[in-house]
Amino acid sequence: MIEKMTSLERARVALNRGVPDVVPVFSRDLTFPLDVVNYTTPEVCRGGPNGAYNGEKSARAVIAAQKELGHDVCVGSIWDLGLSSDAYGGITDFPEQGIPMVKVPAFGERPEKIDEMSPLDFRKDGRYPGVLKSYEIVSKEIGNRVGIAVNIEGPVTEASMMRGTEKLVFDMMIHPDIAKKIIDLATTNIKGFIKDCIEGGANWAVFLASSNDGTEILTPELMRKYSLPNITTIVEHAKKLGYPVVFHPHGIFTDPRNSQLVDESIATGIAGFQFAEKNDFKLAKEKWGSRVCILGGVDIATAILPGPVSRIEDEVKLRLKECASGGGYIVMASCSLHRKTPIPHVKAMVDATHRYGVYPLHLDG
Ligand SMILES: [Zn+2]
Repeated sequence: MIEKMTSLERARVALNRGVPDVVPVFSRDLTFPLDVVNYTTPEVCRGGPNGAYNGEKSARAVIAAQKELGHDVCVGSIWDLGLSSDAYGGITDFPEQGIPMVKVPAFGERPEKIDEMSPLDFRKDGRYPGVLKSYEIVSKEIGNRVGIAVNIEGPVTEASMMRGTEKLVFDMMIHPDIAKKIIDLATTNIKGFIKDCIEGGANWAVFLASSNDGTEILTPELMRKYSLPNITTIVEHAKKLGYPVVFHPHGIFTDPRNSQLVDESIATGIAGFQFAEKNDFKLAKEKWGSRVCILGGVDIATAILPGPVSRIEDEVKLRLKECASGGGYIVMASCSLHRKTPIPHVKAMVDATHRYGVYPLHLDG
């Protein structure tokens, strides 16, 4: 590829809906880098003294994965979904070679505990000090040229980790006061975490991993009531700190029944929308590409996990054709990347994007 811009520059230009030198790739690599360096999951996620998170090893894994794959944006640490629940007394499982899972959510049995809880101090509480340490090391070593995203759950998604998804949705219908308290606490924590990561060197944007903030879990009404107002608050907070926000709710938003929710999401002030699997990317680009950066593209279940490489390359080429003209497009896998994803398959996504995504595009042949 002809390098006219650094990875960080091209990722910034694309998120701002401009035309970079080549389409950037954000492989949202949550536990995936652990396979690149062959660390066990507990070794990093709770491998320090007294079960602390090992920030040095996390950073080594993230940096090694970026070097190996050459993606333009990475997450500043190995990330798992148990962090907030743990910090409030929940229990997370750390399988040796697997993905950490919340086993007992902090407010699963006694939601009234929420009344006694204060917002987290990420420099002291739970495993977070190690996570911030990882952001600092990664940004110091590669942040001058590579994009480093703050990866944090969206408000309903984060609250789900602390309460349990089914219970939280039940609260929304039966005990809306409890649902609101937990989601408000989650929102306050998200804002605090964003600030600390930016101070730790995150340099590109805030990515709101929002699987439970979309129509896969919520009705449109619940999304409007519990998610979008908090997204607005978070976007305003990030903007004050000088950083744009990418929203990634799960659901089929190019379905006419849900598409109004994309307009409403854009109205919160987000800079990018990552469409999950089964969305119509051509339609997404046509409908919203002039107002928001489109992110996403290569399906994990049907392409990245099974391969072969040629299938991944074909999917990259198709997405580039559908979304890349005029800029404002960033290639991602359909969701986050975890352990046991074949490394050559992720590399194929990065390489194909950099090979075929050079501007001006020549994708008709
Ligand atoms: Zn996802």
